[in-house]
Amino acid sequence: MSNFYEAKVLTVHHWTDRQFSFTTTRDPGFRFQSGQFTMIGLNVDGKPLLRAYSVVSPHWHEELEFLSIKVPEGPLTSRLQHLQVGDTVLVGRKASGTLLTQNLLPGKNLYLLSTGTGLAPFMAMIRDPEVYDLYEKVILVHGCRQVNELAYDKVITEELPANEFFGEQVQEKLLYYPTVTREAFRNRGRIPVLLESGKMPADLGLPPVSIENDRFMLCGSPEMLRDTRVYFEKLGMKEGNMSTPGHFVIERAFVEK
Ligand SMILES: Cc1cc2nc3c(=O)[nH]c(=O)nc-3n(C[C@H](O)[C@H](O)[C@H](O)COP(=O)(O)OP(=O)(O)OC[C@H]3O[C@@H](n4cnc5c(N)ncnc54)[C@H](O)[C@@H]3O)c2cc1C
Repeated sequence: MSNFYEAKVLTVHHWTDRQFSFTTTRDPGFRFQSGQFTMIGLNVDGKPLLRAYSVVSPHWHEELEFLSIKVPEGPLTSRLQHLQVGDTVLVGRKASGTLLTQNLLPGKNLYLLSTGTGLAPFMAMIRDPEVYDLYEKVILVHGCRQVNELAYDKVITEELPANEFFGEQVQEKLLYYPTVTREAFRNRGRIPVLLESGKMPADLGLPPVSIENDRFMLCGSPEMLRDTRVYFEKLGMKEGNMSTPGHFVIERAFVEK
């Protein structure tokens, strides 16, 4: 059996000239946990061209959703951005990734820290009722340069609280903290700075970050991951993985070439 299967594109939504999302059919045999990534791609010149993509949809959903950057000269996304409903995309049969609650020590609050398309795995997690069962608060942080890059903001603030199955958990537990760096907005600045200064928890009505209570998942740019990790290590926090749970886990949103 091949390592990937052909999925049909069901919808396409362009958020900006740099980001779009799309949904596809899901092979009933494709299993993943909310927060994981798989390989997706296109047949180019008779060969599969594949890249890692986090799954935006939660594990229980019958369709798959992906959020994608548009890199103008990018081998895959220069093509993928022209997807139309009915087109075929290749989807890997295997999912992997470290953004799993079992890789974290028990805690009170779960912070999901993302920049850009790093939001993708956390869109799956905030639609997974099992995540709410484990924490008192789930804090979704999304950093972008501009306000129009805050993809899914209406889904988070309007659709999820009204969801008939887990809307009550969302209302009680989910806090959303969008922040932008390059224009005026209610929250401004970079995630590591907002955390270390105490501004983010204070804005949210939460106590300062503590090693006892707070757990973190990170997915974003190399700079955000690097600077936030330095701050956590200053606090004595340890990174978790499949064999040893820790205070934080990290996934790269992309690899700098
Ligand atoms: C674990 C993992 C999960 C990923 N999940 C996603 C996802 O959900 N959505 C997504 O769009 N991409 C994701 N990526 C990045 C993705 O694999 C590709 O790099 C991206 O689709 C661009 O492919 P490309 O062939 O067009 O260009 P590439 O040759 O792969 O990339 C060219 C350059 O573009 C920049 N770049 C690539 N991806 C991004 C990005 N997402 N945001 C900002 N700059 C970027 C980098 O500087 C990179 O060197 C993920 C990467 C990893 C490692």
